[in-house]
Order: sequence, then C-alpha cells, then structure tokens
Amino acid sequence: MKSLQEKKLEIWFLTGSQSLYGPETLEQVAEQSKKVVDTLNAASDVPIKATWKPVLTTPESIKAICLEASANPQCIGVIVWMHTFSPAKMWIAGLSALQVPILHLHTQANEALPWETIDMDFMNLNQAAHGDREHGHLQARLHLPRKIVAGHVSDKKVTSRIAHWMRAAIGWNTAQNLKVARFGDNMRFVAVTDGDKTSAQIALGMSIEAYGVNTLVDCVAAVEPSAVDALIKEYEKIFEIAPEIAPGGPRHESLRYQATLEIALERFLEAGGFGAFTTNFEDLGALKQLPGLAVQRLMSKGYGFGGEGDWKTSALLRIIKSMTEGLAGGTSFMEDYTYHFGPGEPKVLGAHMLEVCPTITNQKPRCEIHPLGIGGKDDPVRLVFSATPASGRVVGLMDLGDRFRLVSNDIEIVKPDKELKSLPVACAVWKPAPNLATSAESWIYAGGSHHTVLSTALDAEVLSDFAQIAQVEHLRISATTTQEDFQREIRWNGAYFKLSSLT
Ligand code: MN
Repeated sequence: MKSLQEKKLEIWFLTGSQSLYGPETLEQVAEQSKKVVDTLNAASDVPIKATWKPVLTTPESIKAICLEASANPQCIGVIVWMHTFSPAKMWIAGLSALQVPILHLHTQANEALPWETIDMDFMNLNQAAHGDREHGHLQARLHLPRKIVAGHVSDKKVTSRIAHWMRAAIGWNTAQNLKVARFGDNMRFVAVTDGDKTSAQIALGMSIEAYGVNTLVDCVAAVEPSAVDALIKEYEKIFEIAPEIAPGGPRHESLRYQATLEIALERFLEAGGFGAFTTNFEDLGALKQLPGLAVQRLMSKGYGFGGEGDWKTSALLRIIKSMTEGLAGGTSFMEDYTYHFGPGEPKVLGAHMLEVCPTITNQKPRCEIHPLGIGGKDDPVRLVFSATPASGRVVGLMDLGDRFRLVSNDIEIVKPDKELKSLPVACAVWKPAPNLATSAESWIYAGGSHHTVLSTALDAEVLSDFAQIAQVEHLRISATTTQEDFQREIRWNGAYFKLSSLT
C-alpha cells in the first residue's frame, strides 16, 4: 500500500484578481500570494503540499485551471483566495466544472493594518475583505460544498483548520479510488451490514466487489513455506508469542497457518489494488481458521476491514486510516460489545471476535490461540491487548435506503477497572460522551451500526469536513449532546436531505 508521501498528492492554490489593476499590481498580487502558500506549507501539521498557480484574471484561465485540477490525479483539492477584487461571474464556468473539494481561504497579505501609512495604493491592492465576499456569494449561489477559513495564514489556528480540510480531501480521494474486496456476502439476516453498493459507489466513489472464498483458498495454497518462515521471524520480534504456538511448540502449525493467511490476503489485495476487504465466519470454505491475526496485521498496515461482510465499515476504516496517516494514535475496526453500567462510571467494552487493530495500543500484543465457539473451524490465532487510554471517537456509516449517514461519538478510552485475565480477544474500554445513556440512546435513535471505526487519531473537524465534501449527513454525539436536541436534529436533517435530493 502506497504511503501518503509516495502518492505525492497536492492542493492547488488559486489566486483571483482581474486585469484592470495593471501589471505592476498583479506582480505584487503574485508575490504576496506565493508568500501565503509558503507560510501555509511551512506549518508543521499540513499533511500535503499546496502548489501555487499563476494569478487568474480571466474567465478562460479560470475555467482551464478548474478543468486541469479536476483531471490531474495528484491534485485532490483547490484553495481559492481573492487577494484583490475578482468579479465572480468570471468564476461560474470554472467552479461549475470543478470536480475536487474546494476551500475558500479568506485572508490578507498583511496581518496588521499600516494605520499611519495606509494610502490608496494599499487599499487598491488589499481588497480580500470585499473581494472574497463577492466570490463567496457565487459559491453560495452554486451550492458548492465548501469550507471557508478566515484569518491570517501566520495564525496556527488557521493553518490547523486548513490541514484538517486537507486530511478530509485525502479521505475523499481515498474513497473515490477505493476498491473493496468482499470474501463472501454479508452475514445472513443482518440488516445494517447490508446495503446498496451501487448507491455507495455513486455517493462515495468506492467499488465493492465480491469474490468467492475459494479465490482466497487458492491464494493460501500458493504461499511458499520460506515466506511463512520469514514472517514468523517478524512476529517473534514484535509479539509476545504464547509457547504452545511459538516455533517448537505443539500448536505452532496454527500460527504458521495465520501467517499463510496474512501473506495470501496481502498478495491478493496488492495485486488487485484493493484498499479494504471483508470476511464472513459463516463462509470460510476450505479455510482452516477464521483470519484473526492475519486481519489484525493487515489493518495495522493500513487496510480497511469489516467483519461479517461489513463492506461499509471496511471502506470507512480505510478512509479514516488514510485521513490520519502520520498522526499519533491508531484506528481500528470495532464493535460495541458489552456494558459496565456500574458501580462507578458506566463504560463500554468494545471488541470483536478477533479483529481489533494493534495500532490502538502501546502494549506489546500477546499472540495467542483460543477456541472461537462459532463457525466450526480450527481455533484461530489472534493478538490480545487492551487499547491505550486516549481520547478518540467511534464512527459508523449506515445505508438508510435513500442515502448514507455517518454517526460519531466522542469517547475517552480508559483502563479497564480490573485486569481482563480471561478475555481471549483484544479490546478497548471507553466512556462515551456525554454519558453512556445519552450516547447509546442517541446512537440507537440514529439507527447507528453496531460495527464502527474507533480512532484515537481522527480530529472531529476532519470527519465533519469529510462529511461536508461527501455531502453525507454527519450526526455527532459529543459532550454537549442532549437526547432531545439530537432527536430534533435527526428529524430536521431528514427533511433537509429529502428536500435537497429534489434539486
Ligand atoms: Mn460483528
């Protein structure tokens, strides 16, 4: 899987003006907008480069650059700024053709007004205060899904908000190019993991395609023992392997089998250009174990995953991993499993049958073998650990039949009240905001999924920006949520999305 650096993604910075100012002023506009771009690129939290483009003064050049930005695979979004006055009708054709996310930066070359020396030359040059309002009027008229950031570019808050939008644009780019491989269908009779894959591709771009589990069985058979030997050596360095499955142990073959699964799955995904996949314990064919350790390893390498054929959560996991690449914290497939209502503060214990990503822990994971209890296959090898305390969020993506909905809940991962000595799977224990009752009631009112993506790296603003770009509803359950307001938001959003789909 290619890293963000290898992908060389960029944002194009477009500066608007008009020709009536004359070449001298336009040179100044160019110089000053280059400085804005340099300052932005120097901010430590900006994940990808902003590329300066020549100042735009005609409808033809604006349309041309918007078409070019939309067609260039490296360009995943544009930032626009009207340093001077750029009559907005010049932008209609260009913005109507634009196919990438847009951020309207409302800034100014100077931070302070030169109170004592300000003259008409200065006034003619620094017109963003009204130039950007003219431009914003047009973006509003075009109903462009956009982000507006106002402030001087030397302000860390300004660059941080731009950086968050850039990450959302990275997520959108991931979604647009994502291929999800499903091994088998989704779990029989389950509602929320089902959905309309054609609608998902129209709304988010991702292609979701099924493969018979025999395809994977064939890939497993093709793995050579020397590749497994090498992978076992890697496991020995990074995991605490239980003696019974360690090299020389009586059940070592079980560990080798999960290593074989990891290699087979990764080769298949790489060869097909897949960024995410699903499995289903009901449909394992000739596979001897449910992929556990293998899935955990692939998630830690950046792949999306959903259990029980859950392709929406799998895709969402890949999208969120791409949006958080390079940041502290981790991101995993998750399921609200069971509750602690008390004594003490109520908490959720999140886990899954096996598949929790080790990026959410600082512990050295233990590699163990235990019975699964369902599926009727051999005992699967898995990594066992507890998530490291941190603040984060859980996010679900649902198909409501006529549209998609994101629900998120701010959470605080805490240490389990007591050591979980007998729990044979990885887990995370958290306090949901504002409290368990309001969180759970709101989530359930929203029709939120039982599978989620848990992330301790995803900023709330990145998720909101992503939802804005995708034009997908995002319901956030946070410290300020009340159940009454939340229910009202669901009803109002329902009316809004029904009406907006009519246009
Ligand atoms: Mn599940």
